[in-house]
Amino acid sequence: MAIKLRGVAAAPGIAIAPLVHFHGGLEFIPARQIGSEDVAAEKQRLSSAIATASKSIQRLRHELSSSLSAHDTKIYDAQLALLHDQTLIDDMFKQLEEDEKNVEVAVQRVISRYEKVFEGMEDVAMREKAADFRDVGRQVLSALMAKERSVYISGGQDYIFAADEFLPSDAGLIDREHIRGIVTARGGKYSHGAILARSLGIPSIVAVEDLLQTVQNGTRVILDGENAVLISDPEEEELGQYERRAQEQDEAERRVFEVRFLSSMTPDGTSVQLMANVEGVRDLEHIESKVISGIGLFRTEFAFMERKQFPSEEEQVQMYRKAIQWAGDKMVTFRTLDIGGDKPLTYFRTPSERNPVLGWRGLRISIDWPDFFYTQIRAILRASAGGRARIMLPMVTSVTEVQHCRQILNVISKDLEESGEEYSKDVQLGVMIEVPAIALVLDKVLPLVDFLSIGTNDMVQYLLAVDRDNPRVANLYTPYHPAMLRTLQSIAEQCVAADKPVSICGEIAGDHHFTPILIGFGFRELSMSPVFLPRVKLMVRTYPIEECQDFAQEALRHVDPEETRKMASMKAKEGWSRFMGDNRQDG
Ligand code: PEP
Ligand code: MG
Repeated sequence: MAIKLRGVAAAPGIAIAPLVHFHGGLEFIPARQIGSEDVAAEKQRLSSAIATASKSIQRLRHELSSSLSAHDTKIYDAQLALLHDQTLIDDMFKQLEEDEKNVEVAVQRVISRYEKVFEGMEDVAMREKAADFRDVGRQVLSALMAKERSVYISGGQDYIFAADEFLPSDAGLIDREHIRGIVTARGGKYSHGAILARSLGIPSIVAVEDLLQTVQNGTRVILDGENAVLISDPEEEELGQYERRAQEQDEAERRVFEVRFLSSMTPDGTSVQLMANVEGVRDLEHIESKVISGIGLFRTEFAFMERKQFPSEEEQVQMYRKAIQWAGDKMVTFRTLDIGGDKPLTYFRTPSERNPVLGWRGLRISIDWPDFFYTQIRAILRASAGGRARIMLPMVTSVTEVQHCRQILNVISKDLEESGEEYSKDVQLGVMIEVPAIALVLDKVLPLVDFLSIGTNDMVQYLLAVDRDNPRVANLYTPYHPAMLRTLQSIAEQCVAADKPVSICGEIAGDHHFTPILIGFGFRELSMSPVFLPRVKLMVRTYPIEECQDFAQEALRHVDPEETRKMASMKAKEGWSRFMGDNRQDG
């Protein structure tokens, strides 16, 4: 019988395919019965996974040896010793033989047994060992499942990815040819998984409660990304209706898509620069460079997250240079490492925090670990020789942080100068405005920076005190809140008065419902996932500046965000209808 589940809309579009459970968290592992003839092969899988985990721990230990005290690197020695502990390995083998299930099950059961024993001990040092078992177990499982995952998803069938969450590292593993949709039990519209789904153009819904418990692996489903509905086991009639709607939507998309080559100009001749947000060099293969006026946000941390260790300076130079060369005479904005929060690096373990998004993340980590930060800045400066690039700092909270980073940039430039290394002297330094505190001291920040870009995803989270990843409060997360609109207006006014380039690189820049309001506030640079560019351009080309200004003022008068959202949605619909009847085809 058909079951309808609701969630939060994350990326539009309709997908119809079997749902495949894909467990990102290591607590959920696939279990399958094996025969006694498979036991030897499973043992072999365990030995290879131990070797892989061991290599990655050694690499991490080596990389961090210059930054950690001898005492701290002993943590890795202890983990290596655990990993190769024969008693532990024998216990896993024994469990495997007893259960005759895949080896992941044996690892999980044995590790949890050890964990419990150590957690129950009186001695604090012994209790702490439980965490080491947990971590070693995770690493072995992760090595085992990484293999499992790639085999699993490249089976050649269309599928809808279902999991607790869609992790940034999953983006590197999915089989783009066959994935039709993404649905997750956790996450919010502005979590990184949802942003990735949108930039990949994959219909997606997040925050579907009890998803994996309610819809069985392999069930045929309809995913309606626009209306945030997932229908499992649909009736034939409903299926037919959705198939027709999907066709209509494809047709409309094709029409809007053509707009991308037209000029990005309001009908009264004001140019609005539309730039691209990218998560790595790989994304550039899918972007038509003549359609964008630059890269407004290069999230460098994604390239770091897909790797097993920190890229060296040379590797980073190569990566950044590729993007700069690709962009030609257009600007590339490299955001420095923005890890922490929901973007962990497996090889850089940060202590667990009660409130990670209010904790050690973004620029805070870069400032505390200057080695990595210096290497990244040096690499960007070197890669920029002969091209155009700018450096953007994430999660800036205070003016002193900006002063500090300016000094670092000067010191590194001087070093490069003295060593005769080729680098660009014109690399600009800018900040992301995503922590409300920095928006409130903007007058002090403006003289110190060359440009600014508003990270509205985090700004909404911090301004409204609503976790962008928490489905329980997803209905409270809204960029239409009057406090957010006033903040945007105030930033635009101050930047225009100070003649400082300001852009928006949060998700609202790519949301065409928002375009008239943003133009009305005075923004002339928007950076977005390229899939949204045609729709945003359509809106830019529809409304003259004065109409946008009036509209933005009207939006500011509402106290209820829902009223503003509805108003913006009507405006977008009107723009759409005008487009259907409009023949303005200048290039
Ligand atoms: C933002 O916060 O709006 C932003 C662009 O950065 P991220 O989504 O990567 O946190
Ligand atoms: Mg952010």
